[in-house]
Amino acid sequence: MRVVGQNDKSRRNGGAAGCGHVARGGIALLAVAAIAAGCAPPGDGGSQSALPSPSRQPLEAPHAKGPQAKEPLAKGPHAKDAPPKKFRSAQAARVAAAKHWRLAGVPLTPPPPPARKPAITTRAGFEVDGHEELGLPPVFTTVPTKQKVVFLTIDDGAEKDPAFLRMMSDLQVPYTAFLSDYLIKEDYGYFERMQANGVVLNNHTLHHPYLPALSYLRQKREICGMQEVIEERYGKRPLLFRPPFGNYDRNTLRAAKRCGIRYVPLWNEEVFVDRWDYREWDRKIRPGDIVLTHFRGREDWKGTMPDMIRRFLNKVTAEGYAVARLEDYL
Ligand SMILES: [Zn+2]
Repeated sequence: MRVVGQNDKSRRNGGAAGCGHVARGGIALLAVAAIAAGCAPPGDGGSQSALPSPSRQPLEAPHAKGPQAKEPLAKGPHAKDAPPKKFRSAQAARVAAAKHWRLAGVPLTPPPPPARKPAITTRAGFEVDGHEELGLPPVFTTVPTKQKVVFLTIDDGAEKDPAFLRMMSDLQVPYTAFLSDYLIKEDYGYFERMQANGVVLNNHTLHHPYLPALSYLRQKREICGMQEVIEERYGKRPLLFRPPFGNYDRNTLRAAKRCGIRYVPLWNEEVFVDRWDYREWDRKIRPGDIVLTHFRGREDWKGTMPDMIRRFLNKVTAEGYAVARLEDYL
């Protein structure tokens, strides 16, 4: 049986794709190999050398009182183009939050959710046999849109940092969580608080196995089992599923469909606390890209969740991208 996974993708697409998960078991050697082979060296790509965007709003300009200051709040009450009061206070809160969390700029506000949802199809080369005929859920790495938005997705659930919840709530930056039961069960309440902040909790299996090694039935148990955990604990049955390590086969998608899954989003970039990795050869963010990261802390990488989010936001903001909610486009 053909196995579709990140590692063959990474070769096909120029090298960076397999920079997926940190192996938590013995089964992810392939993913580790891909990390060693294809990923960016530390310090590259995630640097702040991106082109400045005209819409970028410096947080604390040294000449904040000078003629350069274009902050709407500085405008007089009679300014012709003064934003409505409600917007001003929301924007003031974002400016304050960005400063508090030491971001380089204020995250851009995403456009309203699209009235007409884009048609999501499986990325070329990511299909399994009979994908369309069987109506299997699409596997994709980017959402088709011309808007300068990216989607943040966070996987697994090991790190449960209260500061991360505060940061994302303060900044009002949306994201989507893909959770594995063996990691979240030690503190279901943490993810309940996340959900209360508007985050959709999605399926990443019960035990994070390498799925293509399992029979159809065992795959189904991993996926349907997690559907039930999330439904029981959080009241909603997920529509989104991400296979561990990005590895799947035809049985995975058949099982996912049977469990009620509609979409299988993978990712086009991965952000770490110290770097970005890219699937595409030109190492560029594109409109609609899905960005992967993980619930990890100092035990796994040299920094905290807020440190990683800072790296993520500083780059996307500098390049003129807003962070939108993935579910709004599906
Ligand atoms: Zn994972």
